[in-house]
Amino acid sequence: MLADLHLHTLASDGAWTAQELVLAAAARGLNLISVTDHDSVDANDEALHYGELHGVGVVRGTELSAQWRGVSVHIVGLNLHAQCPPLDAALVEVREMRRIRALQIADALSQVGIAGAYYGARKYASADDRIARTHFARYLVETGHCSHTAEVFTRYMKPGKPGYVPTEWMSIERAVGLICDAGGTAVLAHPARYDLQWHGGIEALLRAFVDAGGRAIEVICAAHSPADWSVYAAYCRRFDLRASLGTDFHSPRESRLAVGDLPKLPSSVTPVWHDWSLSTRA
Ligand code: AMP
Ligand code: MN
Ligand code: MN
Ligand code: MN
Repeated sequence: MLADLHLHTLASDGAWTAQELVLAAAARGLNLISVTDHDSVDANDEALHYGELHGVGVVRGTELSAQWRGVSVHIVGLNLHAQCPPLDAALVEVREMRRIRALQIADALSQVGIAGAYYGARKYASADDRIARTHFARYLVETGHCSHTAEVFTRYMKPGKPGYVPTEWMSIERAVGLICDAGGTAVLAHPARYDLQWHGGIEALLRAFVDAGGRAIEVICAAHSPADWSVYAAYCRRFDLRASLGTDFHSPRESRLAVGDLPKLPSSVTPVWHDWSLSTRA
């Protein structure tokens, strides 16, 4: 199975449509993809439509903004049902938080001399309630305040920096619960990325995630080094978790990995799709 189960479109902070992602996946010979936009499921229908047309298996996905012990944590939901009113209602709620946070971020940036950031970021997003830090990053690069995205995050958009606005995202328990209610598999996204040294470490997070009903973690992803692949494969075995993989592709310029540019999961782990009923198998 050649899979990429973490991709973004214009419905969140990606630069491509779902159709463009499917075409890239088909060109690479992928069997299975999922579009996992931040706090949105809107691009899934388009992904399924083009997936069918081009012979790429597609499962519905999302990436929920959540928090645990005050640390922002992303929970990917995979293989969701087509309809889930509680999830849809929660997504509207979270996106409203995103809309308000965007105004606050723009305010914070104006205080350090960066003007026009709201509309500057907004023009890269598809709606007011979809604005992500990535969109601000594009504006700061565009206006020459920084030379690339990574610099924007280091100087302005990380916790403790002048353009960072802490947000009360939903608990990981609620995020996992919503995904389970939608018939999906809850996956802890890019576990190596969280700074948990003051919060009991990754093992405490994994315990809470499993207790909430979480079933898988990303083992191979853009944020992980080859050494991380073994570390997180071992956590899969220890916590009885399935393994997922994805590029977290946003755009060719901003992403380290192209769509589907991933090695296979190690044979020592059970893939997240193990007991999904899929029409496309290889
Ligand atoms: P948000 O959900 O609006 O808080 O934005 C989070 C998004 O910002 C992530 O999904 C990434 O796309 C991007 N991001 C976060 N940290 C970094 C970083 N250090 N470098 C580049 N992009 C980042
Ligand atoms: Mn993103
Ligand atoms: Mn993420
Ligand atoms: Mn992502």
